[in-house]
Amino acid sequence: MSCPGCYKKGTGRFCRRCRHELFDGARIAAVLPFETPNDSNLAQYQERTKRLSISGVQLKYSLRLEEGQFVLTDRNGAYILKPIPPLPLSLIDQAPENEHLTMQIARQVYGMSTAFNALLRFKDGAPAYITRRFDIVTDKGIRYLQEDFAQLSGRTRKSHGENFKYEGSYEEIGILIRKYIAAAVPALEAYFRLVLFNYLFSNGDAHLKNFSITRTPYGDYGLTPAYDLMCTVLHTEGESDTALELYQDDMEDPFYQSYGFYGRPHFEELARRIGILPRRAAAIIDHLLSKTDKVMEMIEGSYLSASPKERYTHYYLDKVRRFEVEKGIM
Ligand SMILES: [Zn+2]
Repeated sequence: MSCPGCYKKGTGRFCRRCRHELFDGARIAAVLPFETPNDSNLAQYQERTKRLSISGVQLKYSLRLEEGQFVLTDRNGAYILKPIPPLPLSLIDQAPENEHLTMQIARQVYGMSTAFNALLRFKDGAPAYITRRFDIVTDKGIRYLQEDFAQLSGRTRKSHGENFKYEGSYEEIGILIRKYIAAAVPALEAYFRLVLFNYLFSNGDAHLKNFSITRTPYGDYGLTPAYDLMCTVLHTEGESDTALELYQDDMEDPFYQSYGFYGRPHFEELARRIGILPRRAAAIIDHLLSKTDKVMEMIEGSYLSASPKERYTHYYLDKVRRFEVEKGIM
């Protein structure tokens, strides 16, 4: 049995560190005191979580802790709960653990700043991903100002249509980071690392709203911890490799024309365009590519079922190999 947060071997309860990070030290059960959303209790769920409904499809719910137990809430919930999404996609029952695993790899293997998260179970045993909101800092629900890059780039459904969050490029986000964040260099490097991570782990849904900045207690701006990381291709085979293009005309070069995918030269070019020094970009790329053994160990130790584990590994290794094709074809 391992910790539902970090997989540390133990009794199956939350380890001390996860208890501290997720619950300020409180002992919380890894089983939720209520059932999976279903036809008979949906009205109760919906009444309590109106604010998070997305086009009628319930993908997430807001929770808060009350006397050591989770309860559904309609406001100021410090936690977001994501059950198996009610979507007709392949291996969808693996989605909560897919997200948990991917978030834990980002944090434990690469030391990236991520939202705290865990895999819980409903009373009936169904899995749910839970994450602690980083924008709510007190139990009174005081929020830090947070803005995502759809907002920062002035794109809304009204102005840019239904696909507004899939417009623009990762270069454009980098340029906005330079504009808004005073300590731009570390923020740009963390951002670049995240874009590369999303590519390596086949997160094809890293759109404009999945990157945000927040105002720090000192009044300046910083990048928020990473959130919503998962290997989306596990559920949507054949989707495009990235939600946004890296930069304009990034598929027009000889490398892409030869191989049909992004490789090292594209990420080096993205880094150059957003103002990261070439040697820093190379170091970040090499670091992300150097941890294959540790990544495989984490996939193996995860709660994914056997066949999804294999596919997760396959997609990951396929991306790693793309960085090994001959350099200098650009
Ligand atoms: Zn733990």
